[in-house]
Amino acid sequence: MSNTTFEQIAKVLRDYRTFAILGHVRPDGDALGSQLALALSLEQLGKEVRVWNEDGMLEKYSFLPRAELLTKPPANAEHVDVAIALDTAIQNRLGTTLAAVASAKMWINIDHHLSNPGYGDLVIVDSSAPATGEIIFNLIKSQGLPLNHDIAENLFAAISTDTGSFQYPKTSSRTLEIAAELVRAGGLDVGKISQQLYESYPRRRLELLREVLRTMRFSECGDVASFSLSLKTAEELAVLPEDNEGLIDHLRAVRGVIVAVFFEELADGKVRVSMRSKDEVVDVCAICQKFGGGGHTLAAGARVRGSLDQVEQRVLEEIRDVLNKRES
Ligand code: AMP
Ligand code: MN
Ligand code: MN
Repeated sequence: MSNTTFEQIAKVLRDYRTFAILGHVRPDGDALGSQLALALSLEQLGKEVRVWNEDGMLEKYSFLPRAELLTKPPANAEHVDVAIALDTAIQNRLGTTLAAVASAKMWINIDHHLSNPGYGDLVIVDSSAPATGEIIFNLIKSQGLPLNHDIAENLFAAISTDTGSFQYPKTSSRTLEIAAELVRAGGLDVGKISQQLYESYPRRRLELLREVLRTMRFSECGDVASFSLSLKTAEELAVLPEDNEGLIDHLRAVRGVIVAVFFEELADGKVRVSMRSKDEVVDVCAICQKFGGGGHTLAAGARVRGSLDQVEQRVLEEIRDVLNKRES
């Protein structure tokens, strides 16, 4: 798979008229921020733009500028010239948005997941980018596409969330330069955005953390940490799926932990597995791919059929195997 150029993508953005910008199910700040940023830039070009996500806008990201643009897809397909998938490793992670763009003449795929197979007509997959938001910034900047306060704030939120507030290893000097440029160009208030992103959680998120911590397990030598959330507990606490984002960081933050795992029982007989690694040698994307998932070397996920206990056992065994091989 070879990447197309920003020039080719910009040409399509300028030449066509109607666009649908899509992101992955269970969206995060990178998906939503990147979607809104590109949509607002196209809007400035006078284009007609739909911004769809299976889950719609999440409560916790509803402070993002022009958040109201992002909606669930319509039940019946709408005609658009171009469908643009952002931050989405495999096409079926677009969920119900996929059917809504059935008539699109052209597909663009912009992403930073290592496991992205390169679906679509025009593809840019840059796994060195810490966030899709960074690729969108490079596209906008290099092609002279519109950039204003609202676009800058959405991109800043995208990059901040996917880098864990500029902490994860893919955070480069370029990432920090881009952040500075966004702050300058958009006149952004970093303290305010960060408070909205990281200090505005509903109380139930902490109640959820208290419950999942009760299930916390460590491997004998402390290199694997995991916890889980049953459907029953999720129902009792009335948690929203978005409340889970970032909880796994508490496990990752423990000294000696190399792999952290969060198991979440889903209503469809599957378990959502969320995995993090602190060592480039331990590729959690490869582990998750064995279970039909994907992601990045240090952050990946999968949805695995089975009960919570079964999936926990299978996945933890697989991680143990990988870690043992590494040590031997
Ligand atoms: P999460 O643990 O849900 O934050 O996901 C970590 C990373 O892995 C994200 O970049 C996801 O896009 C990716 N990912 C999560 N679940 C899956 C899946 N079922 N298939 C492919 N990629 C996934
Ligand atoms: Mn994402
Ligand atoms: Mn991302």
